[in-house]
Amino acid sequence: MSAPFFELDNVVVEFGGLRALGGFSFQVERGTIHALIGPNGAGKSTVFNCISRFYTPTQGDIRFEGRSLLRMRPHEIPKIGIGRTFQNIELCKRLTVLENVLVGASSTIPSYFPFWASPGRLRSEAQAVKDAEALLEEVGLSHYRDVPAEQLGFGHQKLLDVVRALAAKPRLLILDEPAAGLRNREIAALNTMLVGLVRERGITIILVEHVMQLVMAIAHRITVLSFGEKIAEGTPQEVRTNPMVVDAYLGKGAHAET
Ligand code: ADP
Ligand code: MG
Repeated sequence: MSAPFFELDNVVVEFGGLRALGGFSFQVERGTIHALIGPNGAGKSTVFNCISRFYTPTQGDIRFEGRSLLRMRPHEIPKIGIGRTFQNIELCKRLTVLENVLVGASSTIPSYFPFWASPGRLRSEAQAVKDAEALLEEVGLSHYRDVPAEQLGFGHQKLLDVVRALAAKPRLLILDEPAAGLRNREIAALNTMLVGLVRERGITIILVEHVMQLVMAIAHRITVLSFGEKIAEGTPQEVRTNPMVVDAYLGKGAHAET
């Protein structure tokens, strides 16, 4: 049997006396949207910070296409094909929309040439600009190409954050609350975009999200975390009707939480 596309294997994370993840395992199938849900403080962002190698588990392993991530450094993660967004938008506010996308793409531009203006580097930079423009066109942000990111509305900034992550051409995209604070119309656009990424580009997505209307509509599978432990896993239908999940999370106004 081949290795899972992506997996956490018995991951433990401790902060002083606090056990943020208590031996958490889950597997993600290639080409799916896998949602990770649960109350605030459950450990969802900690999972993402482990994947990005900002946090190192005290136990367990994380494997992407069969390779352990634990010996890698944070800057290597985008290069092996894992892109992410942050719970709090991490754009370069003063740079333009296009420049932000190029920052995202920079991990794919070879930087090992001894001369900054080597033909290979210039060619790949020109290609990166073309690719960035195409991405902006696709999500309807072309119009804002040369506008500083800080001048965009909140919804557009969230969208740009996803585009920035996409610019590095990830095979796995991890999104931390992309719908938080968005209006219904913007959530619908995000829904279409994420489904398109999976269908048309074959990208795999791990989605941390409190907006249940989005999760239930697009997730193929859902894992539920509570206090660092997996309490349920299954299809949206299975999870929605699981009494433990309703009790720990869904029953407590998950829709309104941010
Ligand atoms: P979630 O994203 O599910 O809301 P987090 O992963 O952010 O939860 O947090 C899980 C737990 O770990 C919380 O109790 C949080 O306070 C704690 N935690 C997360 N990061 C740190 C850190 N860098 N230092 C100390 N405690 C942390
Ligand atoms: Mg979080």
